[in-house]
Amino acid sequence: MLSTHCRFLYTGGFAQAYAMADTLASIAIPCPLRRRFDYLWPASLQRDIQPGTRVKVPFGRRDVIAVVLGPTDNTDVDASKLKAVIEVLDEQASLSTALLDLGKWAAHYYHHPIGDCLHQMLPLALRRSAPPTAENTAAWQLRANADIANLSPRAHQQRALFNALLENGPLTRADITALGFSASIVRALQQHALIEEAEPSSTPAPAEQGPTLNSEQADALQQIIDSDGQFARFLLDGITGSGKTEVYLRAIAHALANGKQALVLVPEIGLTPQTLRRFEQRFPGRVRSLHSGLSERQRWHNWQAAREGRADIILGTRSAVFADLPRLGLVIVDEEHDSSYKQQDGWRYSARDIAVKRAADSQCPVILGSATPSFDSLHNADLGRYRVLRLRQRAGNACEAPIRLLDIRQQALQHGLSDALLSAVANNLRAGNQSLLFLNRRGFAPTLQCHCCGWIADCHACDARMTVHYKRRQLRCHHCEAVRAMPASCPDCGNSQWIYDGPGTERLEMFLNQHFDAPVLRIDRDTTAGRDSMAELVKEVNKGEPCILVGTQMLAKGHHFPAVTLVGIVDMDAGLFSADYRATENSAQLLLQVAGRAGRADRPGEVLLQTHCPAHPALQSLSQHGYRDFAAAQLAERRLLDLPPYTFSAVIRCDAPQLHDAEQFLQQLRNSLQPPAPGWQLLGPLPAPMARRAGRFRASLILQASERRTLHQQLAVACNVAESLSKRGQLRWSVDVDPIEMF
Ligand code: ADP
Ligand code: ZN
Ligand code: ZN
Repeated sequence: MLSTHCRFLYTGGFAQAYAMADTLASIAIPCPLRRRFDYLWPASLQRDIQPGTRVKVPFGRRDVIAVVLGPTDNTDVDASKLKAVIEVLDEQASLSTALLDLGKWAAHYYHHPIGDCLHQMLPLALRRSAPPTAENTAAWQLRANADIANLSPRAHQQRALFNALLENGPLTRADITALGFSASIVRALQQHALIEEAEPSSTPAPAEQGPTLNSEQADALQQIIDSDGQFARFLLDGITGSGKTEVYLRAIAHALANGKQALVLVPEIGLTPQTLRRFEQRFPGRVRSLHSGLSERQRWHNWQAAREGRADIILGTRSAVFADLPRLGLVIVDEEHDSSYKQQDGWRYSARDIAVKRAADSQCPVILGSATPSFDSLHNADLGRYRVLRLRQRAGNACEAPIRLLDIRQQALQHGLSDALLSAVANNLRAGNQSLLFLNRRGFAPTLQCHCCGWIADCHACDARMTVHYKRRQLRCHHCEAVRAMPASCPDCGNSQWIYDGPGTERLEMFLNQHFDAPVLRIDRDTTAGRDSMAELVKEVNKGEPCILVGTQMLAKGHHFPAVTLVGIVDMDAGLFSADYRATENSAQLLLQVAGRAGRADRPGEVLLQTHCPAHPALQSLSQHGYRDFAAAQLAERRLLDLPPYTFSAVIRCDAPQLHDAEQFLQQLRNSLQPPAPGWQLLGPLPAPMARRAGRFRASLILQASERRTLHQQLAVACNVAESLSKRGQLRWSVDVDPIEMF
């Protein structure tokens, strides 16, 4: 035990009345252990211990970058083993007090190591070395009405720079060079009159005015404004196109006028150049984005701009919830039900929930917006925690297309498509309209089988089948990275008569191309891999010519297709009637999201849903009475079954090269916990439905409590036991609080 009464020992001679002595600091190290680490803070650093500062410390055999939590008076570490901080990396703390407190809270709430939480809250650039050099203020920006159409489609570099400026706002010469653009590219944009020098001091271009709000929008806005300066939670519930974004923009304008900053979160796939441009046009020069598409340096610059208060609006995806906003006055989470807000590995935080926490910390309003609110949020609204703001009137191109069920029992299907759906598409084409066919499965077919002996192409590393990718003549596993060439003949019997079981988007595209004399455009991960390919596809569709769109959930979000008047849902039965109750919720949201892509006020669309279970009550309520009715019925069921949101749950997952090891580990955890009792349930260890994935076996233990406090107490016990057990070779485990998937 070393204590620090030696702290005030005089070390200097007469010249110095007093010199600092070595002290102790508590440090958050990015590692899998749920604890703080104590280090000696040598006087030779000549710095005070400042919480939130990054330091370099020896850890194991390496030196790592870690974050100072604060001074400490004593430590359990033996004096001879105590190591010293090597270097202080920041002049000013990298994590503000507010963010440091948020990180501590989140580490506690998610039962995740504090060192890893703080590490993930830092922008990438700060997780490694010293911060990049300060931003050079001389900069370029897009001119007010700059249109990328003025650039040749082949001028890739020029287009890339245009997009970089569109996404980031002004970029300095240093940034532009760092991004790899030469001076001649800049000159080319200048010659096309697309860019101008940004004068940080000059007044920005006049902001575009929005439309006059309708009465529901005005009422919603008024309630938000009335709560200014207090923590208030709003659920803005309105179908796609009902004017939610317009309400956000007005609320932001109000916050900015009061000298505040705004944080706007959008789902991964929702942050399109169109979204950014809409914000940028309304608030010229005041918006910065934070998302994974930006370079490390761009992200650092935008993060820095927010922290220094130069950026008034941060628009970003999940991790932008950790932006440093000293004057935060409004938080917005668009499409709050979207699962991309929940990080699905490592630290499994929900950016939506952390956003609400940030608003609470900053005493400001938070708006959660959605056309299909999550059941969690609907429940919070029922409890009176969230104030519901509904937009029912049509603003712009809103319309709610009716959903009609197509009973496909005993129907002949061509590649998964019924005659009824095909003739609806044909009629729609004849009327000069666009149709959209939704199938959330890419590739040609999910199964390749030998017609002679029944052999099936399985993944060697997962309990899963390989998906056929026909044009590439490949078999791909959609659960791991495995790729194989398609066999020329059956490895078991040598014949080459194949059955391709089940459709995928690639197969639909090929069939529709043969069947119809109209362009077929496929939108999925395989066709949009290139940098601009998604934008090109969207542009093609929005020319408005009759065509057929085929796609996965990629086309369900972020883009609106006003000329689409028919949506066909090829196969959603598996999701809608899943054993995992959250899958049912997500499928219904996805279905309505897809439906919401289509139609406009003057040409309302139609949604045809193929199903083998047309009489299912859930489907009946969804198609006849809409999402709210469906949600109410589902929530009533969950209440009866004591499922979330009426109870609180967590999953402890484990994976190992042997299933037995994973199960045994979880069994040991289970044995250490309070036995099941009223209000406290344990389920498992259970192998995952697909037990083997990428060569590892997975199992889980589900914890469920009627009181959040019980859940957290038991989780703390489980984590302690798990850490003491986990030095067992290849075994990995994780905790998921408020899971969105049960396995
Ligand atoms: P959401 O975010 O709910 O999808 P938006 O705010 O994007 O809806 O609105 C959809 C379209 O309607 C946009 O083109 C928008 O400019 C327009 N719009 C929104 N509010 C109004 C209004 N009050 N009057 C006229 N047009 C509006
Ligand atoms: Zn065979
Ligand atoms: Zn696999």
